[in-house]
Amino acid sequence: MTPSEIFELQKAHFLAHPNPPIAHRKGRLQALRKALMEREDELKEALWKDFSKSSYEVELTEFLTTLVELDHTLRHLARWMKPQRKPTPIVLIGTKTHVRCLPKGPSLMIAPWNYAVLLTLGPIIHATAAGCPFVIKPSEHTAHAAGVLKRMIEEIYPPEEGAVFLGGADTATELLELPFAHVHFTGSARVGRIVMKAAAQHLASVTLELGGKSPTYIDASADLANAAKGICFGKFSNAGQTCIAPDYLLVHREVAERFKAELTSEIQRAYVPGTGDAELTAIITSDELERQAELIQDARDHGAQVLIGGRADSTSRRVEATLIMDPPVASRVMQEEIFGPILPFLVVDGVEDAIERIQRRPKPLSTYVYAKSDAVMDRFSESIRTGAVCKNTTLLQFVQPFGPFGGEGNSGIGRSHGEAGFRAFSNEQVVLRRRWGSWIMRLVMPPYSQRKSWIGKAFRRFT
Ligand code: NAD
Repeated sequence: MTPSEIFELQKAHFLAHPNPPIAHRKGRLQALRKALMEREDELKEALWKDFSKSSYEVELTEFLTTLVELDHTLRHLARWMKPQRKPTPIVLIGTKTHVRCLPKGPSLMIAPWNYAVLLTLGPIIHATAAGCPFVIKPSEHTAHAAGVLKRMIEEIYPPEEGAVFLGGADTATELLELPFAHVHFTGSARVGRIVMKAAAQHLASVTLELGGKSPTYIDASADLANAAKGICFGKFSNAGQTCIAPDYLLVHREVAERFKAELTSEIQRAYVPGTGDAELTAIITSDELERQAELIQDARDHGAQVLIGGRADSTSRRVEATLIMDPPVASRVMQEEIFGPILPFLVVDGVEDAIERIQRRPKPLSTYVYAKSDAVMDRFSESIRTGAVCKNTTLLQFVQPFGPFGGEGNSGIGRSHGEAGFRAFSNEQVVLRRRWGSWIMRLVMPPYSQRKSWIGKAFRRFT
């Protein structure tokens, strides 16, 4: 079937079933959970073929994360769906108000490649929970994983409830021409702009999960060994191809030399081939590998020192875990989202200097702070508009289903995960009933008179 045939089918189905019951939604989610477990080996093999992602990383960053979201949704869906009773102001005396969440309708999702399972299934979980039929387009760059996911999803959902289209920008463009009620996009800010423009033609709502440069500040008070471990995990998992990976470091001058030593030994212990037991995931495409190599060369050309790593291998498509000292602001590594295992190390004079440097850039998706006291973190939290601030850890905000996930401006629009994900695919409807006292409104209804005007003014006392 073509995209427009599927869309028409879903539209008709949605009109006939505008609010699927909870048992139906949960049934689909449980089937999704079962299918995911059954296909674990197949998906691991597919992701290995796509970009040599190790089975350990797949377990941790694709399966565990997806299961957290799935189980959280199954556990809380009844509460999210339950109409919420609202208080009654005195002027509305005699009425009763509820707000209920109803599915927006057929929705479109466009997914990236970097966490192919998690970021394809995540929006499906939320759309299903909200009761929306959906069409999803996984990324063309993880074609093996996308193939497995397509088979899996189509076994669970009939086409009027869920469909998968494989392909690249052309397929996405064709899908974006259809008047879906909501568009959920995860990917780059460049394509996010295209998606928002297309959605505007139909006045569809959007969730844009974008990326950017997430800064990491290391205070003089930080536990440096813990900081080195947390930053390496956040940066080199998936070879840095993570939207919330620490993009660059801002290190307090007092501890810069000591932290450099900690970081160097942690990278060598865990990530340098032959010296540790972890092999970095490959870079997704040869073009991306080329860009990573260019970023390193450009930093060198700008006079920065490559302290560790720096090599890119075109056969394995791997880039070494790379630490670059003091690249200037004008260098590409400080201008572009890195999205690879390259870590710029900049020395700063303290909290205010770090904040000022971050504020000069577009709003980051996440901000990490390594420090002893909460006061330091609070200063970042207040001063920087960012989707999440994490103290003494990295990446974990993604796995906190009670906290909405998303960015601001350049790093995204809207929120997903948990209840926020459910709400993104839902419209809130006010249901207001008059139970008694219809005469109260009649006191101010036309024909108007001086007396009614007095009564109307008297109402102001009860607002
Ligand atoms: P991308 O923007 O290149 O592609 C994302 C999706 O958009 C793919 O499915 C692709 O086929 C499609 N696409 C490409 N061109 C298109 C066009 N012209 N019109 C419509 N659709 C088009 O991003 P990517 O390389 O897959 O992912 C990397 C980016 O995603 C990074 O910037 C990263 O930070 C961001 N990201 C954000 C999150 C988040 O949750 N905020 C998660 C993962 C990745």
